[in-house]
Amino acid sequence: MVRLQSYVLGSWHTGQAPFSALVDPSTEQVVAETSTRGLDFAAVLEHARNVGGPTLRGMTFAERGALLKAMSKALFADRERLIEVAMANCGATRGDAKFDIDGATGTLSYYAYLGKELGDRSVLVDGDSEPLLRNNARFHGLHLKTPRRGVAVHVNAFNFPAWGTFEKAAVALLAGVPVVSKPATSTAWLAVEMTRVLVDQGVMPEGSFQLVAGSAGDLLSHLGGQDVLAFTGSADTGATLRAGEGPVSRSTRVNVEADSLNAMVLGPDVRVGDDLWNRTVNSVHLEMTQKTGQKCTAIRRVFAPEALVEPFIQALSEELSRLQIGDPRIDGVRMGPLSNAAQLRDYREGVALLSGEARLAYGSPTEVDAARSVEGKGCFASPIVLHCMAPHAASLVHSREVFGPVVTVMPYDGSAQDAAALVNKGGGMLVSSLASSDRDFLQAFALEAAAFNGRLMLVDKKIAEVATPHGMVLPSMVHGGPGRAGGGEELGGLRGLDLYMQRTALQGNRGLLDKLFG
Ligand code: NAP
Repeated sequence: MVRLQSYVLGSWHTGQAPFSALVDPSTEQVVAETSTRGLDFAAVLEHARNVGGPTLRGMTFAERGALLKAMSKALFADRERLIEVAMANCGATRGDAKFDIDGATGTLSYYAYLGKELGDRSVLVDGDSEPLLRNNARFHGLHLKTPRRGVAVHVNAFNFPAWGTFEKAAVALLAGVPVVSKPATSTAWLAVEMTRVLVDQGVMPEGSFQLVAGSAGDLLSHLGGQDVLAFTGSADTGATLRAGEGPVSRSTRVNVEADSLNAMVLGPDVRVGDDLWNRTVNSVHLEMTQKTGQKCTAIRRVFAPEALVEPFIQALSEELSRLQIGDPRIDGVRMGPLSNAAQLRDYREGVALLSGEARLAYGSPTEVDAARSVEGKGCFASPIVLHCMAPHAASLVHSREVFGPVVTVMPYDGSAQDAAALVNKGGGMLVSSLASSDRDFLQAFALEAAAFNGRLMLVDKKIAEVATPHGMVLPSMVHGGPGRAGGGEELGGLRGLDLYMQRTALQGNRGLLDKLFG
């Protein structure tokens, strides 16, 4: 068994007993333990602010980009070993593990490229300078963006220990802000191993990146007005962190990425067996089974015209019946277990609740064919397809996120307005998809649903085969969603840097402003 350490204050630290256990969810064996008791979190934050911050601010964007490139390369070189850690601690299949780890290296690499493009600058100007008086051409204003002088604290969810840690770090480091990252305790091993690779390779300047392996302790109580808290996890924890002393009394900047009831809509022009139909069935299957449905972007609700509901449930169920569930290290297994026993309990409770509003059309929350595993062990869950016949009257199917391989299929009346109204009942989504080649329908749906969604996938037959999967987050596009989804925004190319930079209005002599900052 491994005892995890936190990388803080320039070296590795072991916490004091008692330790939290990290479990292999396929076998229920304890694979690691960790504790953060005894760590001086106030000192950790000061180390970032006083050592990491000045170093990063002294670097140009091109130099910070080179740092991200070196991080990406070092992690990629150890990819095979990291995949094994993910399989042992997260119950991930090889494909799931690659999705997480390659997401991390890919995002680092993308932001490395942006840094290179920005070149020798170390601050950004937002827009052009503009005259502020009608009768004077000399008095001008422009907006300058400089790195905040604090620390970026990143608190992440258990489902993406690699991607979650490094997509956030990439953006903060490129902005010039040092990072203290806290992965979820239950799957922290992978993030620790990745940090160890980077420390051993000596790629990160002192104080620029620290990792807390375990509970946050009193870390967040020391946040101040120049600091940033970026959180990913459940809506409940998001609400607790937002109400903390830093955000409430000292204006610590906060970004929340929470859960959401993402949707897929089949347009009225889709026919059983055509390209859009096949893509939709495959998309829903992928979103349910990849990472055992434990993805914030996974499809939880499918809306289809009444006549397509039964055929869709049948086609999806047929696909799911071929799925091999079990220990992801065994050949042929395509879906692993849920991440831990608490997640399995939550899944069972959630399905029982949704069953009050929807008929169970496929699977059982208490029985699962996980033949390829140690008998009687493992947090395995069957995929579940529910059929809700009256979605306007229902509420739980639009509000209770079951974080697992669970989807509810529902009818709508075939109009874009009804489809959007039902999608929007989710109260704010990270992403929703529409499969349709009907332009009027696409436009009407997008205009109605955009305000409730951080991202919309509009897939017509011309891109059905090439479009990226519904749940894939691309670093060039914003990730986050309004309302229920947390109200946050991450990534989106250079847009993501805004979270870590202060925008200041400079007003003065045009010649001087242009010369110094333009
Ligand atoms: P969670 O229970 O809310 O935990 C998330 C993180 O918050 C963990 O690191 C946890 O640490 C920490 N935490 C919990 N209470 C805290 C407190 N009082 N102070 C400081 N830190 C605290 O969520 P989860 O179960 O890990 O993740 C699943 C949820 O995340 C799902 O609902 C999913 O939809 C959402 N999610 C959203 C996105 C997105 O991008 N929007 C991405 C992935 C997941 P410990 O582990 O040490 O308790």
